[in-house]
Amino acid sequence: MTQKATLIRGDGIGPEIVAATLRVIDAVGVEFDWEEVPAGSGANRDHGTPLPSETLASMARTKVALKGPLETPVGAGFRSVNVAIRKHFDMYANVRPALSVPGLKSRYEDVDMVIVRENTEGIYAGIEHRIPPNWSAAESIMLITRFGSERIIEHAFEYAIKAGRKKVTLVHKANILKETNGLFLSVGREIAQKYPQIEFTDMIVDATCMRMVMNPEMFDVIVTMNLFGDILSDLAAGLIGGLGLTPGANIGHDASMFEAVHGTAPDIAGRGIANPTALMLAAAMMVEHVGHADEANLMRASIRSVLGKGEHLTGDLGGSSNTEQYTDALLREIEAQRS
Ligand code: ATP
Repeated sequence: MTQKATLIRGDGIGPEIVAATLRVIDAVGVEFDWEEVPAGSGANRDHGTPLPSETLASMARTKVALKGPLETPVGAGFRSVNVAIRKHFDMYANVRPALSVPGLKSRYEDVDMVIVRENTEGIYAGIEHRIPPNWSAAESIMLITRFGSERIIEHAFEYAIKAGRKKVTLVHKANILKETNGLFLSVGREIAQKYPQIEFTDMIVDATCMRMVMNPEMFDVIVTMNLFGDILSDLAAGLIGGLGLTPGANIGHDASMFEAVHGTAPDIAGRGIANPTALMLAAAMMVEHVGHADEANLMRASIRSVLGKGEHLTGDLGGSSNTEQYTDALLREIEAQRS
């Protein structure tokens, strides 16, 4: 049966990079039955709201969405359409892979790690207040729950198995924050016992930063709390040359959403020159998420190969190809790798 999925083309360069990404999904032979729905600035213009209820209804129905970048219209009543969708579906896991491309300018050529970040609790939840007089102090509450820890750590192990990965490293600061981070670590140790086929280690966050910079190849899947995950995922992106090629997945129990980490790039929108790689890598995560790991690997291998050869790079990577020429090269590479 063809998998149903929601498609949000988005604003700015969204429609261009979505179109290119659909060609690549097609080329690896994965079929989705797309429900195309509006969101963002375009939706606000055409439907009077940046997040129409039909969009949420479609995601609730299909449970998976591929989303182009969205602009949040000024005065729309919520901070960000992206955040509103994540909150609505309680998307508790933010999954960000960092995969280096040999040949592209970056510090390392052998990084292949995935950061699984808890996305709903911890110090990042913003439960904080000022203490009088005159803001002389301020207080913040770090809430870590057993429920929240269990579901994110389970997700990291399940992801590792599905993606054929070998190791999960749990990152924490339990030597100092013995109760909150200690709970996260203790839940991690319990859950690891259910997955003997996956190697499990834990590492203190400061040591992790040093090791990520010195020996990034030692990391496979990292699972961590909200704030550490936020910081480590940007550090990982830096190791492979920045946020430009970085995809992200937001996983919830009731729906998951796959997107590029970059924004709508209004300065180049409509010119057909945007780099669609981050969204294509997000689509590879989605394809893997619905059970097609081989096709996802084919997408990633072809992207790495075309970027690595450097003949068909888009302008942001120093090349002179447009979106279509780059995508054509990818389709030829997919064909070559299949035969
Ligand atoms: P937003 O408000 O939606 O976040 P922004 O312009 O502030 O938009 P980005 O969209 O992330 O932030 O863009 C930052 C810069 O990177 C811009 O100059 C943009 O043209 C460039 N950029 C972002 N994504 C891409 C892409 N996929 N291909 C080429 N250039 C890009």
